[in-house]
Order: sequence, then C-alpha cells, then structure tokens
Amino acid sequence: NKTSKIGLTGKILIGMGAGITLGLVLRILFPESTFVSDYITNGFLHVIGTIFISSLKMLVVPLVFISLVCGTCSLSEPSKLGRLGGKTLAFYLFTTAVALTLAILAAVLVHPGSASMATENMEYSVKAAPSLSEVLISIVPTNPMQAMSEGNMLQIIIFAVIFGFAVSHIGERGKRVAALFDDLNEVIMRVVTLIMQLAPYGVFALMGKLTLTLGLDTLGSVIKYFALVLTVLLIHAFVVYPTLLKAFSGLNPLIFIRKMRDVQLFAFSTASSNATLPVTMEAAEHRLGADNKVASFTLPLGATINMDGTAIMQGVATVFIAQVFGIELTITDYAAVVVTATLASIGTAGVPGVGLIMLAMVLNQVGLPVEGISLIIGVDRMLDMVRTAVNVTGDAVATVIIAKSEGSLNEAVYLDPKAGKTSG
Ligand code: ASP
Repeated sequence: NKTSKIGLTGKILIGMGAGITLGLVLRILFPESTFVSDYITNGFLHVIGTIFISSLKMLVVPLVFISLVCGTCSLSEPSKLGRLGGKTLAFYLFTTAVALTLAILAAVLVHPGSASMATENMEYSVKAAPSLSEVLISIVPTNPMQAMSEGNMLQIIIFAVIFGFAVSHIGERGKRVAALFDDLNEVIMRVVTLIMQLAPYGVFALMGKLTLTLGLDTLGSVIKYFALVLTVLLIHAFVVYPTLLKAFSGLNPLIFIRKMRDVQLFAFSTASSNATLPVTMEAAEHRLGADNKVASFTLPLGATINMDGTAIMQGVATVFIAQVFGIELTITDYAAVVVTATLASIGTAGVPGVGLIMLAMVLNQVGLPVEGISLIIGVDRMLDMVRTAVNVTGDAVATVIIAKSEGSLNEAVYLDPKAGKTSG
C-alpha cells in the first residue's frame, strides 16, 4: 500500500507538520481555554512527548556502556586507543574554535545589538564556570553505578574504556566477555530502531505542545540576534562541515547531509544531544558506515563535550550583550570567551537549555552583565532546537572523518543510499 512507501523521515515530517497545525488551530480557536491547556497541552501532548523522550533517554546509559566496552575490546593496543582519543579531542576542540570564531566575527561585523535596548530591571543569577581542575577531577568516577544512575557521560566513558581494555587483556576468557558484549550491542541497537518507529508520534506531540506554549512576543526586539545565530548555525552545518568532510576524508558531503536528516530531526524536536545519541549512533554505524570501535567512543564523548551549535550561540550572544550594554570587548576578552565556552561545554551535558547556563558562565568570566541573558531568553528555545541539530551533526562529521582516517569506515555502506534504512 501507499503509506509503506513513506520512509521514517517522511513520517517524522508529517508528524511535525500535524503537531504544528494542531497547535496553531487550537491557539487560534481557543486562545485562553483552560481545557486546552489542562487536557491537551499539559495532558495528552505532554504525556506522549515525555514518554517519547524518556524512551530515548532510557537507552543512553546502557547503549553507551555496552557499545563502548565492545569498541575498546577490539582496540587491544593502548597506543591505538590513545591515538583515537587524541584525534577526537583535537578535532572537537578545532571545530568548536572555528564555530566560536565564526560567531564572534559575524556578530562584530553585523552588529546585532544596539545600546538603545532597555536594560533596566533585569535579573539573572549565575553558577560559576567549572575550573579546569574541577573538570579534570570529575572525569574519574568514584562509583560507576552512581555515574550510570546519574547519566554522567564522561565518567561512564572512562569506566567503559578501562573495563573494555581489561577485557582485551585476559585472553580466552576475555574473548567470551567480548562476544557477550557484542551480542548485547546487537540487542540494544535493535531496541533503538524499534523506538525510532515511535518518533512520528513523539515529534507530533512535542511540536504540538511547543506551538501551543511558545511565546514569541519578545522576538521583535531581538530579531537581528535571532536571525544572525540562525544564519551562522546554517553556515556551520551546510558549509563548514561539508568542507571539512571533503577536505579531510574526500567523501561526498551530499550523501552525509542526506543520511543525517533523521538524526537532525530527532535533535531538533528533542533539543537534546543526549536523548538523540542512540539515533546518532545507529546512523553513524549502520548508515554512514563508521565502525563501532570509533563511533562508540567519539559519539558519546561528542554529545557531552562537542557543542558547536551551542558555541555559536555563545559567541553571538556575548558580543550582542556587550553591544547592548555599550561595553567594548578586547581581543583578550574574545580569547576568554573562546576558552570559557569550550571549558563550559566540556563540563555540561547535552540537554535542553544548557546553552543558557553556559552563557551565564561565559558572561561572568569576561565581566559582562549576566542579566543580559533575559534579553535573549525568550527566543532561546527555538535556537536551542536548531543548535542541537548542529551539535549532533558536528559529532557525526568528526566520527566519519576519524573513522576514515583510522581505516574504520565501510565506504560501501557510506555510499549505499539504502544502508540501514529504517522504513515501515
Ligand atoms: N540543547 C543542546 C544540546 O543538547 C545544548 C544547548 O545548547 O542548550 O546539545
């Protein structure tokens, strides 16, 4: 029949469109209705949307642990692991620095903020940015079970890598353990593809609720900021990443862009790199052809420490707020923005809205008024969705490039348009 021809992407888009339409219709027909807000917005749509996000998050910890143990089991030499780790970190830092520079340059040139904006009566409180030593200390878990129950990605990564490394060093028995983890990995990947089938309904509910609750009255005054962040995000996703992919690996970027669509839709509608992680891993391994031993390491790490989209927002927002408050930033300040934004992104997880917390740290660090955040908070949710899509794309680009450089990319899979397609 006809519907089975529509792939998952199509179904997600239909869900998205239906959700937005429902939201708009209800908003227009029943603007003040408590029935709508009690039973639809915070009832039906909230329940479906939250269940969908929970079911994705449910997979993250077991998936990261199992898949990373699998990956490290097969990387028996410590030097390989070290090289992979080094490349990944270097690449992530590099792309984040490019993103921040692009954002700061754009904001300085376009000058989105004007001093005429009202800045009285603003309040916003800050958490201090973690220091480098705090970031380093917190990487090693005191209790791996606690790390898992809190979903602390860096700590889970460290434990899994050490565990997998030991597995590869105990001979025959290690082989049995490795085989077990391999099987478990298959199981959990299958669960991922099952849950992905729910996406059209989940996305419908998330977009419906968002359309019913989003307030855009503040958009007018910050439209330039909004448009600028959006433009830089799109340039980063559709110019910078494809160029890097072509330059470092010689692969056709159009294929990458096409195969990332589903992942980006997931990221867009959940606004969380962490919740999207299962889908990103599935796509990287089964559709883009990156080997598990690379993807299982680079992607969970990336979901936590590599947030190029978020960095772009930090860069533009810092310059914007400085302009509104009429404060000149020096080159040293810009450098401080780059360093703090990068450190803050290492210490914070990829969950909705975390970019604002990081921004508070950055502003504090360069001595800008943190209250400035209240200017942009109203439009942040929409930007959060787009920058999360950029964040996960950055993780996937790095994964493909690194896999290719390690000889761990199956190019037949990369080139096959049908590879790993979850239809039906
Ligand atoms: N929501 C983003 C993510 O999960 C982080 C942020 O920019 O707020 O990647």
